[in-house]
Amino acid sequence: MSPRAALASVWHVTATSAITTAHAQLAAAIEHLGYDEGLHAHLRMPRREIHVAVPLRTDSGELRLFRGYRVQHNVSRGPGKGGLRFAPNVDIDEVRALAMWMTWKCAVADIPYGGAKGGVAIDPTLYSKAELERVTRRYTTEIMPLIGPETDIMAPDMGTDEQTMAWIMDTYSTARGHTIPAVVTGKPIAVGGSLGRAVATSAGVVHVTRSALEAVGEKLGGKTVAVQGYGKVGAHAADLYAANGARVVAVSDVFGAVHNEDGLDMGRLAAHVAATGSVTGFDDADPLTNDALLALDVDVLVPAATENVLTEQTAPTVRARLVVEGANGPTTPEADAILARNGVSVVPDILANAGGVIVSYFEWVQATQVYWWTEKEIDERLEQRMVTAYDLVADLARRDGITLREAAGVIAVQRVAEAHEIRGLYP
Ligand code: GLU
Repeated sequence: MSPRAALASVWHVTATSAITTAHAQLAAAIEHLGYDEGLHAHLRMPRREIHVAVPLRTDSGELRLFRGYRVQHNVSRGPGKGGLRFAPNVDIDEVRALAMWMTWKCAVADIPYGGAKGGVAIDPTLYSKAELERVTRRYTTEIMPLIGPETDIMAPDMGTDEQTMAWIMDTYSTARGHTIPAVVTGKPIAVGGSLGRAVATSAGVVHVTRSALEAVGEKLGGKTVAVQGYGKVGAHAADLYAANGARVVAVSDVFGAVHNEDGLDMGRLAAHVAATGSVTGFDDADPLTNDALLALDVDVLVPAATENVLTEQTAPTVRARLVVEGANGPTTPEADAILARNGVSVVPDILANAGGVIVSYFEWVQATQVYWWTEKEIDERLEQRMVTAYDLVADLARRDGITLREAAGVIAVQRVAEAHEIRGLYP
């Protein structure tokens, strides 16, 4: 299969059933909490969504059109918050699922935000930087009525980065006539970004891994780790695991996986990826398929790429004792049941990858106060929030005999429902 065909097949799979997974997870929390169907329906339906057409004049002069979306799933605890995704198969249901997960993620992390997500159905690898800038600015202009530092704050996600955020910030600020850094997070440091934001999701993944291991009397040092997805989250997570004494034995990207039982040399691997654009072909490791990586006999498996990776087909092959979800929605409900039956503990996405939005919150607070914190302050506050959230979830899971995913869902849904209840229904 050509690299592009491989990429396309992965993207195709991602868009299929994220919303089914999100709905099943919400239903489980509602049932556990004993909430009625009216509240269930209220928490299920997105509060606001906008569909936009995003036209692009390409560098060669052709006109192309893309579909764009922004969904605010819930804004009861604060402004909408969540990333913007550029991927060819993005559709409204996927964005709805991702927005709903942001609501629960912000609630579990106890930061004062609702949940939102945006997407443009574009393959960013096919367009120049100038073309992506035009797409970003036009998309921002189209959704302008919905976004703002007090209403809905975007951040990077799959296919977007800090440069994308700088363009959004500039477009919004230009329209308003003055610089408004707090309209997006995950910006470059030079325009009001936060120290530590670029590695925050990965740092949080490592913090909860440590907590989960300590809960069973074990240490991170010496543990073997496989990371599926060597992107923004996975690459930094792999580096941080290695820096904390774990042995990263395998990593993958859409083109394939590489494996070295003695542990991959992260510095040399990063140089190889910078030079070739893929982990495949790394000379200090053996090639492996993505599915074989999921089935490795490791201590910790970290799906850090996209949705629907651990499924009814792949979950039975998992031999890791601990799965830590760097990605959003990597595990289907069927896979969840299989993993639980097989004694595999899963630290769920809305807890495990909350580090990104937690430091986004720090960035927004700093931008709002126009006062920037030190890296040490960011790191310490992130760790404290991740550990607090983990402990709360783990305590409930133990108390009620439920999985960490169910417990995280229950805490999140309860917090959002409480905000609804106290605010009351208008009119
Ligand atoms: N896209 C990231 C996520 O899914 C970060 C969102 C944010 O910082 O707002 O959590």
